[in-house]
Amino acid sequence: MPEGPEIRLAADKVAAALVGHEITRVAFAFDRLRKFESRLCGRRVIDVRTRGKAMLTCFDNDWVIYSHNQLYGRWFTCRQGVIPDTRRQLRAEIHNRKNSAFLYSASDIDVLHHDELDQHPFLSRLGPDILSDKPDARLILERMLAPQFHNRQLAGLLLDQSFLAGLGNYLRAEILTLARLHPSRRPVDCSREQLQKLARLIIRTTHRSYRTRGIVNPPGLVRQLRSQGKSARAEYRFNSYGREGEPCHYCGERIRCANAGGRKMYFCPGCQPAPERVEV
Ligand SMILES: [Zn+2]
Repeated sequence: MPEGPEIRLAADKVAAALVGHEITRVAFAFDRLRKFESRLCGRRVIDVRTRGKAMLTCFDNDWVIYSHNQLYGRWFTCRQGVIPDTRRQLRAEIHNRKNSAFLYSASDIDVLHHDELDQHPFLSRLGPDILSDKPDARLILERMLAPQFHNRQLAGLLLDQSFLAGLGNYLRAEILTLARLHPSRRPVDCSREQLQKLARLIIRTTHRSYRTRGIVNPPGLVRQLRSQGKSARAEYRFNSYGREGEPCHYCGERIRCANAGGRKMYFCPGCQPAPERVEV
């Protein structure tokens, strides 16, 4: 599933095609949404925002198209008159005189009034979005220490969208390796310095992935790996995620993979030693 940075990049693409232009046609594949087509046609798109893994296409009359891509949804943008070359099922299309945006395969689409957003079942459960709300490290530290979160293992906590919105599996793996914290640790097991460092890394790593389109390793390490001949993107973008059995770029230990809640969790046993009470 795409994570916060990938959703934000998709939103940037849709924004570039739609923001500021008068909409000439909107169409939905779902009968329940057809009544909104005439309400949105003739209006302007003023913003395309993200909240966690949801995208909000905002119109100048306070109506908003909510879409959540889940595993399969995908936005395409084209010049007006061009149809994307795909066999996917078209779910929504938005046109202006210059460009078109097409949403394929997603089923979680709705049209909401701006005032309804806070009551939406998915949106209302989200914690601060790292890329949109830009929480600072102090706020993230406060949340880690809050009673509802401080006893949770970091492996589960970082994926919990009610804690922070926008993190997924690859960001979790890379952030915890950089923080040198084993995934089974809980905020209550960590020192204040460790949690402050973790909070800063959550912000920095997510923004870096957005800025570099998914190159999550720090720039110094990327330069070093490329100078060693690792020129394919897949060879230098991650340290831990998807690299089970490969040597850690920092310490040389083999990356391990454990199953946590049905999802693969990658970590380095050298950089992230297990606490003594836990066996993984
Ligand atoms: Zn390591």
